[in-house]
Amino acid sequence: MSDNASPPVQAGDKPVLFQRLALIGIGLIGSSIAHAARANNIVAEIAISTRSAETLAEAERLKLGDAYSLDPAEVVEGADLVILCTPVGACGKVAAVISKSLAPGAIVSDVGSVKGSVIKQVAPHMPDGVHFIAGHPVAGTEYSGPGAGFATLFENRWCVLTPTQDTDPAALAKLTEFWDRCGSQVEIMDAGHHDLVLSMTSHIPHLIAYNIVGTAADLETVTKREVVKFSAAGFRDFTRIAASDPTMWRDVFLHNKEAVLETLGRFSEDLSALQRAIRWGDGDALYDLFSRTREIRRRIIAEGQETAMPNFGRDEGGLAPTDEDTGE
Ligand code: NAP
Repeated sequence: MSDNASPPVQAGDKPVLFQRLALIGIGLIGSSIAHAARANNIVAEIAISTRSAETLAEAERLKLGDAYSLDPAEVVEGADLVILCTPVGACGKVAAVISKSLAPGAIVSDVGSVKGSVIKQVAPHMPDGVHFIAGHPVAGTEYSGPGAGFATLFENRWCVLTPTQDTDPAALAKLTEFWDRCGSQVEIMDAGHHDLVLSMTSHIPHLIAYNIVGTAADLETVTKREVVKFSAAGFRDFTRIAASDPTMWRDVFLHNKEAVLETLGRFSEDLSALQRAIRWGDGDALYDLFSRTREIRRRIIAEGQETAMPNFGRDEGGLAPTDEDTGE
């Protein structure tokens, strides 16, 4: 393991909550946790592991941690908080590798967008005396990698924790405080319920975006040049979502299969109803739906989960990356 001289931790109002945070996976979410934990003086030391030497070197260059290793078992040694920040499909493998090196009393969590599958993959590998509590910060962008993270990603965003009936209340309280100090509002939820809710609010919208952008790209009658040229008219917003990390989203759909298929069934029925309304010239049905949906956006803005600025708060040219999140 290589050690970096750690930048001095700013003294905050509160003492550090954890002595050693181990992050396994250091992409958008892992690096944002590193920034937030550092900026808010939540941990004394950050140890980082990831799959590839390139990503690890990039994390070290960005000074995201204090210690680095390609071996996840090495970085969890002595850690009192371990957070898995890999794609959902990799969590079981990582849990098996770190299992024997986890410190007694350590809290292990994750950030995966699907909870039932992660619990099934990870829980069997957790030794007695280690507290595993699955979690999902509902915040993100379409960017990935260690350079994409920033300290304020979780501010005013929900973080869902999915304890089971065996979860230790003191460990849950400590993990809740961790996310609270990262700026999140914490919601406790059953894992199955999380997966159903997120299938509707996040997974299906991503599937629709991937599909619509794929269909447009495949259309023989519209040249790709025209698709790009006229993209201001709604399509462009779908391309932002459809630019999200392919590995992460492949795993989301493979690991939240039942809930996604159930929600997709409902979506298809509603789409057929819209198709019928258009075919039969039922303007009232269209107008009623479009009025209801407009109201939902107003509520999201009122709850502070989206900006009311025109064009999602993008600058005039609409080209610069913004900090708008995919609410993933
Ligand atoms: P990311 O930027 O693509 O980073 C993924 C990290 O995981 C990289 O460090 C990658 O390492 C590592 N990794 C990939 N496959 C691995 C494997 N098989 N074994 C070990 N490490 C592996 O992804 P992200 O956006 O941070 O997403 C990470 C997790 O957060 C996912 O589970 C996702 O569902 C969840 N999440 C994402 C968002 C979002 O909007 N992006 C929001 C909330 C939650 P290498 O580069 O070294 O291969």
